[in-house]
Amino acid sequence: MRLELEGKSYAGRQVLGPLSLSVTRGERLAILGPSGIGKSTLLRILAGLDGDFAGRREGAERLALVFQEPVLLPWRDALANITIPTGCDPARARDWLAEVGLAGREAHFPRQLSLGQQRRLALARAFAARPDLLLMDEPFASLDPETAARMVALTGRLLAGSGAGLVLVTHARDEALALDCRLQVLAGQPARLSPPHESP
Ligand code: ADP
Ligand code: MG
Repeated sequence: MRLELEGKSYAGRQVLGPLSLSVTRGERLAILGPSGIGKSTLLRILAGLDGDFAGRREGAERLALVFQEPVLLPWRDALANITIPTGCDPARARDWLAEVGLAGREAHFPRQLSLGQQRRLALARAFAARPDLLLMDEPFASLDPETAARMVALTGRLLAGSGAGLVLVTHARDEALALDCRLQVLAGQPARLSPPHESP
């Protein structure tokens, strides 16, 4: 997919652009930047969730999204949280649950799962949609360091296994490096993209 963003404004205040980026299946791109710089705004535009911008977005890739909040269906069990949104058959959904370490939790409701387990369920749901590109918005934030590291490793394994590409927005450079991402930094007012200056 390719984005040529001339500008994105909220209520007359330009927060992003001009900037351009492209990413495709098998590529991994991380967009780094501090809180409030416009990372989520950029990811929502990339995802096609926000069409209110000046510029052009092109791409026929299948996308799956992972947000900081797992955004699960509260009254549906773990299995249905995969089958309903993705249309994936129950046997495949079971396999995905096993892949993320949730075998045996098929009938658990989201509230019966820890935050780390809910995040892994959201990850299983994303891959069950068989995406060409996974778009992740701070998916490892507010997990304890050990859980976050395990989830980073799991994400890397699933990406490698599926061949999907990745756009990761985060303020954590170590996560981006652990996932072998090409780095771009979002900075300025309005924010633009540039290669990182400091070495890792
Ligand atoms: P980040 O994800 O990097 O923390 P955001 O993309 O959420 O940053 O926000 C970038 C800027 O745009 C911030 O100044 C934020 O207050 C503003 N903003 C985000 N969403 C909206 C919105 N729906 N309406 C108005 N301003 C917004
Ligand atoms: Mg954000």
